Amino acid sequence: MDVESTRHVRSDVSLRPGVELIELSRNESAMAIPPHWLQVAVRAASAALAYPDPDCKLLRKAVGETLRLDPQRIVCGAGLMECLQSIALAYLHPGDKVVIPEHAFAFFRSVTQVAGARVTLAPEKDWHVDVDSILQAVDESTRMVIFANPANPTGSYLPRRSILELRLRLPSDTLLVIDEAYADFVGEGRYEPLFDLTHSCNTIILRTFSKAYGLAGFRVAWAYCPLTLIEELRRIQIPAIVNSIAQAIATVAVQDQVSVASFKGEMIATRRRFIDRLIGLDRVLPLESETNFVLLRTSSEAEAQSLDAFLRYHGIMLRQQMAVGLGNCLRVTIGTEKQMQIVASRIVEWCSKISKVA
Ligand SMILES: *Cc1c(COP(=O)(O)O)cnc(C)c1O
Repeated sequence: MDVESTRHVRSDVSLRPGVELIELSRNESAMAIPPHWLQVAVRAASAALAYPDPDCKLLRKAVGETLRLDPQRIVCGAGLMECLQSIALAYLHPGDKVVIPEHAFAFFRSVTQVAGARVTLAPEKDWHVDVDSILQAVDESTRMVIFANPANPTGSYLPRRSILELRLRLPSDTLLVIDEAYADFVGEGRYEPLFDLTHSCNTIILRTFSKAYGLAGFRVAWAYCPLTLIEELRRIQIPAIVNSIAQAIATVAVQDQVSVASFKGEMIATRRRFIDRLIGLDRVLPLESETNFVLLRTSSEAEAQSLDAFLRYHGIMLRQQMAVGLGNCLRVTIGTEKQMQIVASRIVEWCSKISKVA
């Protein structure tokens, strides 16, 4: 079987005959899983009559050794979203307030509501999370602040000094949750680790194997926590929630930083060429990004809808952003070089069509 053509299957999308699906709506990896990672998963599958290790000992040890972190502070989960939901259920009470940036990942809102807490949106500035507006939104009922760094869907990255300032000025009993789903994609030399914040402060850092490692279907992620929070978190989480196949492939994946670095290098080069192809268009503005996606701005919600419909007609699936207050934008995941060439030329085609009509 051809890996390329079997990677994305969507039962909810019906394409015209002869049109190939280009699935770029979910920030999945464009790279094939390395064969030696898959061999490890197959071996784990043959032993999966047994329950998994509920403590994910080997995975936590591998993450600890690779990233020079304390395995005791690592809690693994069935995806970052599961970690976040367990954190929300463990630390939020009905009536608590949670502050999130106005264009933040929509799941932050739903998880807050699932826990019975209220959301307050903090305005962003120049497509970036804004520390001052978060602090203005915080009051004595604010139990948690959640944001992603780099952010989804803007792709922007907040430097460490801004986050240190935020942590310093937040009340010490307000839990700061930083979703680093895209941290592995931050450009050369610009990523600044924040793990040390968990040592002295009320801060949790979240990581996932779904994006840079290309293992979204395995559902595995981890939280780096203050030791004082771990017991409560483990009490809320369903026991043995990370299956043994996911544990095994994530362990070999994190130990193989050479493959991860090569995925990243290829993605960044493809992203650069894709953005450069769009620069100068008058109807579509690509935002610079530190992630494996790019936010495309158009001048109105109607134009974004028109572009989305045009691309869908040609089999290209992007993600609309109405849910996070960016109706005039579409988010495109960086796929293979070939896919991105096709997408860029379809966008150029749409622009010239629209300009003629106008
Ligand atoms: C994709 C994404 C996730 C999803 O993580 P899983 O580990 O697949 O649950 C979490 N946070 C952000 C900001 C994302 O974009």
